[in-house]
Order: sequence, then C-alpha cells, then structure tokens
Amino acid sequence: MRVAVLKEDNCQPKKCNDECHAFCPPVRNGQECIILDDKTGKPHISESLCIGCGICVNKCPHDALIIEQLPSELETDMIHRYSMNGFRLFRLPTPSKESVVGILGPNGMGKSTAINALSGRIVPNLGDWMDKDADWDGVIESLPRGELRDFFVAVKAEKIRVALKPQNVDRLPKRVQGTVRDLLTKVDERNMFQEMTEKLGIDHLLERTIQQLSGGELQRMAICATLLRDVDVYFFDEPSSYLDIHERMRIVGIIQELSETKRVIVIEHDLAVLDVLCDLVHIVYGKKGAFGIFTPARTTRQAINTYLDGFLPEQNVRIRDKPIKFLNHSDRVAELGSKVVSWGGLGKKLGDFTLSTGEGAVHRSEVVGVVGPNGTGKSTMIKVLAGEHDYDEGWVTSSASISYKPQHVDVDIDGSVQLWLDSEIGPRWRAGEFNVNVIRALGVDELLPKRVKKLSGGERQAVSIAICLGREADLYLLDEPSAHLDANARMEAAKAIRRTMEANEKSAFVIDHDVYFIDIVSDSLLVFEGEGGSHGKAEGPFKLQEGMNRFLKGVNVTFRRDHDSKRPRINKAASRKDREQRTSGDFYSFNH
Ligand code: ADP
Ligand code: SF4
Repeated sequence: MRVAVLKEDNCQPKKCNDECHAFCPPVRNGQECIILDDKTGKPHISESLCIGCGICVNKCPHDALIIEQLPSELETDMIHRYSMNGFRLFRLPTPSKESVVGILGPNGMGKSTAINALSGRIVPNLGDWMDKDADWDGVIESLPRGELRDFFVAVKAEKIRVALKPQNVDRLPKRVQGTVRDLLTKVDERNMFQEMTEKLGIDHLLERTIQQLSGGELQRMAICATLLRDVDVYFFDEPSSYLDIHERMRIVGIIQELSETKRVIVIEHDLAVLDVLCDLVHIVYGKKGAFGIFTPARTTRQAINTYLDGFLPEQNVRIRDKPIKFLNHSDRVAELGSKVVSWGGLGKKLGDFTLSTGEGAVHRSEVVGVVGPNGTGKSTMIKVLAGEHDYDEGWVTSSASISYKPQHVDVDIDGSVQLWLDSEIGPRWRAGEFNVNVIRALGVDELLPKRVKKLSGGERQAVSIAICLGREADLYLLDEPSAHLDANARMEAAKAIRRTMEANEKSAFVIDHDVYFIDIVSDSLLVFEGEGGSHGKAEGPFKLQEGMNRFLKGVNVTFRRDHDSKRPRINKAASRKDREQRTSGDFYSFNH
C-alpha cells in the first residue's frame, strides 16, 4: 500500500516551480499521477499511479511531500483518512473496563484523531474520505468481535459520554474567564467539588481567576474539572506536565481510583508515571503528519521495554535506530574537571519566600540534575550562582556567565525557526558537532522553514533547548526541558545536553521532574526540600544515587531496576520490594 501525503503547511505553490509535477516520471509519461489544483495550485497525488520513486520528495524545495510504502495487510485496518493526501489512522486503542489504558508515542501520530473517533465526535470513514455520510454501522461491521466493537455499539446508541483533559493547559487562560470556583462548580456532575479540590490540593485557589494560576495549578484545575464530570470514559492528555513528582504521584493515585469504576485512557510521556499508572499500554508509531498506527495493547512493562528497545517484534518494525539505555551509576566514566563555581551557606529572601543552601561546587563537564517540589527556589538559587540575583548571606566564588532556558519560553518572532536561530546564536548552528549533536538530534533541522508562531509546544521546546545550548556561557541552566517533549525526544534532549557539556567542558543545571530524564542527563543531583512559596533548602550536589535516595525519601517513593532494560521502576507502595528498600534506605536502587 502506497501512502502519499502533502504537508499542507509546507506546500507553497507561489514560492516554487511546481517541481513535484515537473519531475514526476509517470507525469512525464503522460499519466495523471500528479494533478495541480486549479484554485490552490497544490498537487493532488494519485497513490495508485505513483511508482514510489521519491523524486518529488527530494525535488520539493519546501519539504512538503511524504511518500511511504506500508504493509498491505494494514489496508483493511484503516480507521480514518482526512483527505486524498491527508493524514490517516490505522487501528485504535481500546478503552477497557476498570483499567487505565496508556498511549505511548510521539505527538502528531493521530492520538487526538483516535480520541475524537472513540468519543463519537468524528465518525471514522475507514479510509473512504469522499464518503461524507459514513455511519457507525460500517465502523462496527469492520471490527472483529470484542471489546472495541461493543464499545462502538454503545457509541452509536449514544450511550457513551466522555470527558477530556486537554494537552495544553497553558492555553486555558486565553479561552476561559472567571474564577476556579466558577469553572469547577459548572462541571460538578458528581457532587464531589469539595472532595476533589482537596485531593488535588487546589482548595486554597478557588477565588483566583484562571489567569492568575501557574502552570502546575492550571494542570491540577483541569484534571479536577475532568474528574468532576460524570461520564463513561475519561481521557487525560499529558496530565503530568508542570507538576512536581509529589503531585504526579498524587494524580496517579486519583486516576487509578477513578479506573476502579470507569474507563480511563491516558497519554503520558513521563515513562515512570506511565509505568506506575497504567494497566495496559498501546504503542503508537508512524510518520508525523502522514500516518499513525496503534499496536494492540501490551502489559505496561512490556510496552515500555519494547518502546525503549526501539523494535516492535510482532509488527517487525523498527521505531528508532538505537535502543535507549540506562547506565548504572558506576558505568559513568566522565571525568569531572576543575571547579567552575562553589558556594556555601547562601541565604536569600524574596518577599515571603526564603531560600537557604548548604555547601557545594560544580565542575567542568558536570551536569547537575536539580530536583524538588515546585516553588522551593530552584531557579532562584542558580541565578544567584550566576550573579543575576544578589544574596543576603553566605558566599559564592565567582559569577560565571549563564545561558538560561526558562520554563515558559515567550518568543515574539514573526518569522521562521531559521531566523530565530540566526538572531539568537548566529551561524554556528549550521555546521560541525553542534549541528549533529544538537540541531539534528533534537529534530530542529526539520523545523527550519516553519514559522515560530506555528510551532507546537514540543517543537518550541526543542528549538529553545538548542538555542540555550548554542550560546557561549560557563553555566547552562535549563528549566523543565522535558515539558511537551515526547518520551523519545526527552531521551534525545538528555543526550544532547550531556554531549554538549562534555565536548565543551562546560557545566549545566537541569531542573526537571521526569525521573528517567534526570537519570540519563545527570552526573550529580542538587536536592531541594521545603514548602513551595514559603521556604526552600538546597543540599548537594550529591552523587546521583545518594541524591536520588535523599530526594525520593522526601517524596516517599522507592524505585527498583527493571531486570531487562535496567530502567528505574516505581515500586507499589507497601510491596515487598518497597518495604525492603525503605528499611535499607535504598530508595533508588541500582541493584534490585
Ligand atoms: P496527535 O493527537 O497524536 O498529535 P492528531 O490526531 O492531532 O495527532 O493529528 C494527526 C495528523 O492529522 C496531524 O498531523 C494533522 O495533519 C492531521 N489532522 C488532524 N485533524 C485534521 C483535520 N480536521 N483535517 C485534516 N487533517 C487533520
Ligand atoms: Fe511521482 Fe510518486 Fe515519484 Fe512522487 S514518488 S515523483 S508522485 S511517482
């Protein structure tokens, strides 16, 4: 089966010479393999006449075409196709009774399309995109007997109601007016307003307007609003963004409780969270913007290990060149260089908030993971080290120059990604090690012509990380680089940060809440404790394991290692391993 997809955003017929049409061999032989639209000038590609030579893909100056060959057995599994050369979706995840079903895979591969189909918002056309009267009977007949088919029978009978926690909670302030109380009261179909707002720790925010909330507060409010609805299926699209690990663990408990009586589907890129939260996981793979394929559900452990390994044996498909590997701490060989900055007994007061620190130092080539609850002064401290904030007590050896990627990147550039890169870091991104290790590794090379305003959250994050790493500085501070990135992009970003520091003998602080990300990126750990908004204390940097043990003790969670992939896994509370590890103080085990 041949798939020809036109990326509408990239295609700019006014700015090219119709290369696709001019060079297509079947067209040159008189066949109507590509027809240019009378009105728009954009190509319509016939998949049956296309010979798959790929010439149009290479000739198009705007990288607007995708031609792929897919296994023919998929043909009968097509669920939806938007248009002749539009995105298409194969197979669906199954909302299962009394389970949390996870979806693992990049964005742009049809997760929203699948959710829209499962919620009855679009009637899947099974690939017949011209059929505007597609009906549920066709969909039901096309599915084998089983849970998914039964589910669609209920969708047809309008017996299924759904609620969705949207992906981008940071867009809510632009769309919703009023206070948190107003918003939540309106959706309280289960009469659980008080219980849920307390459980989510937002009962003190009720009189605030949506515009006054931080990212983490917006996230908890949006999750609360979804939980208050009385529906059959609950979808949570990226529930963990902006939440610290305490909050993530709390959400895990709440969603699991919900699944005891309801169907729940979760899209999540923090693999430690996905792992502990879900009963079953569907991997989704394909080509961004062109097609997406859902695999049958696997057990969560199997799905994550398979995903990290990068090869789907049942489908015989490689989804990544190389496996993602977790190192034992002792495997880390990087030699740390001389001290870049050291400090002791720092104290800093900012309004009602006080920060204090122990004694510590950072070396050349060292990547320091920075962990701890939201609002305990993580970025404040690093800005003190860089001389950007003064301090009230203690000492710092010198002020090192700093390159900073904030949590929320506000850019107001009316131009392309290329222009953004040029204006921030000059031409250095175009070649050499930086181009290979950062620009290409983060997929920024594929975004160059795209307008900055049209970037998705993940794309914007990738470019921001590249810009931060591309500036000249002694210290690099990255605040939540994993936010909005999919699991694969997170691992690539972690590697890009490490490589840049090793190659240039620089040092980085990386603030993040994703334990897998922190594990891969960090040589050492700076651990914050305290109470958000009131006081924070920074200890360390410690060696990774020692730091994790301290940090996780505070969170009250233990991790073991998966015996195959060596990835960290959260233990079930009060399980045998959990109790053993607690007793021996081994919260972040490298041996179990
Ligand atoms: P995900 O939720 O995994 O990010 P989506 O289901 O939103 O993926 O989208 C997959 C692809 O489908 C997108 O790249 C987009 O090009 C295409 N798409 C989504 N909605 C429409 C639509 N209404 N019309 C045409 N194409 C669409
Ligand atoms: Fe024509 Fe298909 Fe070759 Fe493109 S890949 S030039 S559409 S034959």
